Amino acid sequence: MSPRNGQFDFDFIVIGSGFGGSVSAHRLVEKGYKVAVMEMGRRWTPDSLPRTSWSLRSWLWRPKLGLHGFFNMQFFRHVTIFHGCAVGGGSITYACTLLPPPEKVWEAGSWTGLGNWKAEMPQYYETAAHMLGVTENKILGPADLLLQRTAETAGSGDTFYPTRVGIFQAAEGQASNQTFPDPFFGGEGPARTTCLGCGGCMMGCRFGAKNTLDLTYLYLAEKHGARLFPETQVVNVQPLPGASDGAAGYEVCTVKSTSWIRRHPQRFSCRGVVFAASSLGTMELLFQLKEKGSLPAISPELGKHVRTNSESLIGARMPGYHEDLSLGIAIGSGVYIDEHTHIEAVRYPSGSDAMGVLTTILTNGHPGPRRIALWIRNVISSLLRHPVKTLRVLQPWGWAREFVILLCMQALDNQIEMHWQRPWFWPFRKFLVSRGQKVPTYIPKANEFAQKFAQLTGGFPMSMLPEILFNVPGTAHCIGGCVIADSSTNGVVDSRHRVFGYKNMYICDGSVVAANLGVNPSLTITALAERAMSFIPPAAQTSWDDAAPSGDQADACDTDEEAGNRRSNTVFS
Ligand SMILES: Cc1cc2nc3c(=O)[nH]c(=O)nc-3n(C[C@H](O)[C@H](O)[C@H](O)COP(=O)(O)OP(=O)(O)OC[C@H]3O[C@@H](n4cnc5c(N)ncnc54)[C@H](O)[C@@H]3O)c2cc1C
Ligand code: SF4
Repeated sequence: MSPRNGQFDFDFIVIGSGFGGSVSAHRLVEKGYKVAVMEMGRRWTPDSLPRTSWSLRSWLWRPKLGLHGFFNMQFFRHVTIFHGCAVGGGSITYACTLLPPPEKVWEAGSWTGLGNWKAEMPQYYETAAHMLGVTENKILGPADLLLQRTAETAGSGDTFYPTRVGIFQAAEGQASNQTFPDPFFGGEGPARTTCLGCGGCMMGCRFGAKNTLDLTYLYLAEKHGARLFPETQVVNVQPLPGASDGAAGYEVCTVKSTSWIRRHPQRFSCRGVVFAASSLGTMELLFQLKEKGSLPAISPELGKHVRTNSESLIGARMPGYHEDLSLGIAIGSGVYIDEHTHIEAVRYPSGSDAMGVLTTILTNGHPGPRRIALWIRNVISSLLRHPVKTLRVLQPWGWAREFVILLCMQALDNQIEMHWQRPWFWPFRKFLVSRGQKVPTYIPKANEFAQKFAQLTGGFPMSMLPEILFNVPGTAHCIGGCVIADSSTNGVVDSRHRVFGYKNMYICDGSVVAANLGVNPSLTITALAERAMSFIPPAAQTSWDDAAPSGDQADACDTDEEAGNRRSNTVFS
């Protein structure tokens, strides 16, 4: 393919419309570029979002089974990864907790020393927080108050905090569920409604209170000219003839993601590409493109340094509890039970009980057959002692009203690797396959905390069935796999997110994060994308030859004056 009549279809094609993709689209349009965003997932509106998680077709993303929702689960030997798939990426299903990580993360991992991170990042966190409307949660629900009481009994009550969230909340003394003209972008954004505290954020907000990307960055990008292609999966990216490093531009091929037979293949030409398909999505696409020879120069470090925030999902179920524990916002509060271990109180909205099929009675002990035997013994002994209560706890109905998920994150560095292989159980095609040391699923202190939590209310401490049966933790925070580093020997992109080996090619999503953050990652992904985009010159000044330095040259940090110039390099705003 060559550009039609010498004209490229777009200056930039952004692959994926999550946090990194939406920031990139908005900032590139602002700089005067012609931008397309290719998004595999569907576009959602308050009317099309499912009412509960039992509407599996509109909740889960598994297009080959006819499920076209916005929430995906991928199962690996080392970890089950939960992630979003929609116009707005993970923001449609995420719980909107937006926390900056501790400063020490810039001193760990392959990005250390490649930027003046500690001095530079605060301004990008500030911009990200402003754009995502971050504020302190004012709606503490019954689950948050229970978390606080448990922390007090456990001696860590002073660490209790209401989360910082991207939600439009009513001012003090005002009623909820009130609609106002755009409160965030000086009238440029959409009208918004104040939060009801229904706990439904992870099922998609049906009230317009959650500051999802389609109401913030992506809204502004589209308003100013970005063209969004929903249900469009990118299946190939290759340099146009004449320059194998992409200096002559790229061809991007897509198919319709929600169709089996008429896949509607399309080809587009562009000068530059931004991969923003999430940690898993970008790894998967780049492995495919490297293997089929479209992008052979991608670093062999692809798939390395994948981190899961060392997460474990436990909780407590209180059958017949007098309050509705689903009320509040999805992640309303948190505590630190020691310097490495952070626990957040998480909930699904009333009626969204489908996750209940994955939870079971908590069992202590190291993973393996003995723990499974102990779990079976615990279930039988509980059934004999409290048959009715135990049966109520093991069946899913009423789960969201009675359950508090305790999301435990540890700031300890556990890493795995992803490889592109034929798994032994399905040798017909290659998939992402995880390798490395198992991430611990048994965190004794967290289990003790769940037990205390349950004791306070006469409930049952609970954990996830796959953790007990297969010793596989679940995480919604997969990061890394294309990490920032000084050279292609150590990572996939440089500190300005330029892909080693190619021109005008960038990665802006969770895959570039090079350290375990210990907090929910979306604010960091947004801030990093803001920084990466600040290096790209306005359209009128570009020479289309942006590339990471070759060899082992580390990137030079720029001066304060250069950083200031970068920030003012926009066409409007
Ligand atoms: C239930 C849940 C709750 C969460 N809660 C929080 C929270 O409270 N706070 C927090 O910080 N984080 C939270 N997260 C994590 C957060 O959603 C992710 O960290 C974040 O969305 C990652 O951003 P990203 O830019 O890397 O990619 P994403 O936001 O995941 O976006 C990537 C997009 O690329 C699309 N894509 C993938 N491949 C292709 C392709 N080949 N072609 C076209 N499009 C493609 C995908 O469909 C997706 O929409 C939560 C996640 C889940 C699942
Ligand atoms: S609690 Fe309910 S109203 Fe508030 S942001 Fe979440 S889903 Fe929307």
